[in-house]
Amino acid sequence: MDRLRLLLVSTPVGPLGSGLGGGVELTLLNLGQELRRRGHDVTILAPAGSVLGDLPVVGVSGPLQPTAHTQGRDTPIVLHQDGVLGRMWDTARQHQDAYDLIVNFAYDWLPFYLTPFFQTPVAHFVTMGSLSDAMDGAVRQVADQFPGRLGAYTRTQAETFGCGAAFKILSSAIDLSCYQFCPTPGQAVAWLGRISPEKALEDALAATEMAQIPLKILGKLEDEAYWQSLGQRFPQAADSYLGFLPTQALQAIVGQCRALVMTPRWVEAFGNVAIEALACGVPVIAYDRGGPAEIVRSGTTGWLVPPDDIAALAEALTRIEALDRVACRQQAETEYSLPALGDRFEAWFQAMLGTSPPMAEPRP
Ligand code: UDP
Repeated sequence: MDRLRLLLVSTPVGPLGSGLGGGVELTLLNLGQELRRRGHDVTILAPAGSVLGDLPVVGVSGPLQPTAHTQGRDTPIVLHQDGVLGRMWDTARQHQDAYDLIVNFAYDWLPFYLTPFFQTPVAHFVTMGSLSDAMDGAVRQVADQFPGRLGAYTRTQAETFGCGAAFKILSSAIDLSCYQFCPTPGQAVAWLGRISPEKALEDALAATEMAQIPLKILGKLEDEAYWQSLGQRFPQAADSYLGFLPTQALQAIVGQCRALVMTPRWVEAFGNVAIEALACGVPVIAYDRGGPAEIVRSGTTGWLVPPDDIAALAEALTRIEALDRVACRQQAETEYSLPALGDRFEAWFQAMLGTSPPMAEPRP
């Protein structure tokens, strides 16, 4: 397709590289690199201090935005005066003529609300499932007024908004060359992710305790009070925690594990950690809901167990040997490669720009 000038606007919850953005940080890196490899002109707009590989990042300062998953469903919209969210979108507005398309990666009300005010088309890659009434309303408004402008990781995630058909399902991908296949793991299983209540690390601690299997925990310590409470219930947690590691170190440790355990309490939009594990040849044992349920092929590349059922999780941990590490790597190669991701995003962009020229009016 023709070379596009693309502005990718990041999440305002933390600088890229901090881990506060969760999986969207890796998604932006991979997508940005793949789009640039295809000849597109890619600029990232993100909170000051952000680093994203060798991609050009325009940093914007200001107070960070609270994360949506820490707010209640009926919490009103909160915007800081001079906050980074408003300032990033003001920067996007001022420079919009330099771009063919602006893609929003922030799970925040403001960019959805602002969509009709831009001359350059704004598309939205929605990174979480439905969490608040205000966001649902803003998402549905874009669905109604600007058909084709919504993207999501998975079908299950899109359906939480009550307008699933309005979304293009784009999945995720990783740079497979960064992940080494490991055929012979050690004894431990891994748990990866932000340490925050919606990820329910306590279930992985309880299930591995039950199954008498050592656990390695890697990830951003997002909620300190929650982590302290876990430490009181599970004295082994502190020794199991290895920190928040860069991809190279992460994959070296995960590859040595017999399985990845995923215990999301919420409808996980995707779960980049699942495909990172698969790429190392590591099967995924997960609750049967949200993104992991669309990724894992139960019985071959992992086990899906009833959500919130710790005994079922522990039981599945005794059946890891039945899974196929080679099939795990193969699934990552066929379904989650960067070229496959680039094809899906380019098709989305083409459909959007082909049917809706830059100056098109929204439907009334
Ligand atoms: N991650 C990391 N270092 C760690 C543990 C996790 O860089 O030590 C990254 C991981 O690569 C993944 C992200 O944290 O990209 C977690 O994203 P995921 O999509 O699994 O969940 P989210 O945080 O978006 O809900």
